[in-house]
Amino acid sequence: MNKAADICKHTSSDLLNRVQPIASQQSLREEQLIELVEINSSSLNPQGINEVGEWFANAFNKISHDIERIHLPPWERVDFQGVVQQQTLGDLWRIKKRPHAKYQILLTGHLDTVFPLSSPFQKANRLQAECLNAPGAADMKGGLLVLLSALELLESTPLAQQIGWTVLLNPDEEIGSPSSAAILEEEAKTHDLGLIYEPALPDGNLAGARKGSGNFTCCVHGKAAHAGREPELGRNAINKAAELILELAQLNNARPGLTLNTGMINSGETTNKVPDLAVFKFNIRIETKDDAHWCTQHLETLISQYNEHDGYKAELHGGFGRMPKQLDSQHLALYSLVQEYSKQLNRPLTYAATGGCCDGNNLAAVGLPNVDTLGVRGDFIHSHNEYIQLPSLTDRAQLSALLLLHIAQHGLPFKQSRTGGIK
Ligand SMILES: [Zn+2]
Repeated sequence: MNKAADICKHTSSDLLNRVQPIASQQSLREEQLIELVEINSSSLNPQGINEVGEWFANAFNKISHDIERIHLPPWERVDFQGVVQQQTLGDLWRIKKRPHAKYQILLTGHLDTVFPLSSPFQKANRLQAECLNAPGAADMKGGLLVLLSALELLESTPLAQQIGWTVLLNPDEEIGSPSSAAILEEEAKTHDLGLIYEPALPDGNLAGARKGSGNFTCCVHGKAAHAGREPELGRNAINKAAELILELAQLNNARPGLTLNTGMINSGETTNKVPDLAVFKFNIRIETKDDAHWCTQHLETLISQYNEHDGYKAELHGGFGRMPKQLDSQHLALYSLVQEYSKQLNRPLTYAATGGCCDGNNLAAVGLPNVDTLGVRGDFIHSHNEYIQLPSLTDRAQLSALLLLHIAQHGLPFKQSRTGGIK
């Protein structure tokens, strides 16, 4: 066991008493959660996202007045006509407290969900006394309330003087944080550790190492012609795209853990016309940074080969937005501390590697050790069966508050190595 986890065994009863008051807010948090999940905040609904963002800005205003609303550049994406579209995003919020304190903690969460305005899944539905089925309840409006509760508790104690914190609430995590990544990474460089409020698994377990991820759009241009009168003059973009897709599928497991999924395709208007455009989108998951370089080169070579095929043109857009998160010794010390305090709360947990990724990847990519599943317990996220275990609004907030109080009292669970931003 590392030193920090050992210390917490001896001092935890005092800290456990200090985090008890969080329990008295359980019914308030449940009411707030229902209010929040019923505001649609799909990544493509900036108005709804801003409504949720304003709600939290107002709530944080009780513990900090350093609140900044930041307009992000639009998200550029290639549509199924092969045209680059500018998608307006909601605003990002940055809330700071004590930027000169000894320890600097970055806490992040996303305001967006995956459920569009057109989805029938917009309301909360209580399944049992302790379970609520609702869009974004676990991923991650419940987690945002956990973050808020933990910081409110910290600010109610004198130990808070040791801790400076920054909260970032971003509007675009569910689409890969294309416009907020730069701010996340810039802030990561001036903090000692990161706490992220993605949901935990139903048993409370955490995500450990995470794969990296890249999203790509490929446009294959052919030539239109009448399918019956002069098909020989045409160049069928669907056929050419199909060849390319099958070649891409060969990349699965070409390196350990590498997966490629073509997930969307669009082409054609009618069966008697040779289609002149096919657009498809695919995602690649990787285990190491080297895999990203390897894939990028491989894709470039493949595309240039297809550009030599008579009468066809292939274009590739996109890239790797998230590098893999690997667990180094700082991460292991941090995870061990989280495990120790979970045990003190009678909720022992462990962690396991996952192919999924989140903003924890971005923070780790610039060297910030972080735990990224400190949000609520729940399951079936991104589906209409998504649910939250309501008691986790309290005990997960207590867990985060314990971590913050521990750091205030005993320091970081690893040697402070931040180079940027120490004031
Ligand atoms: Zn999430």
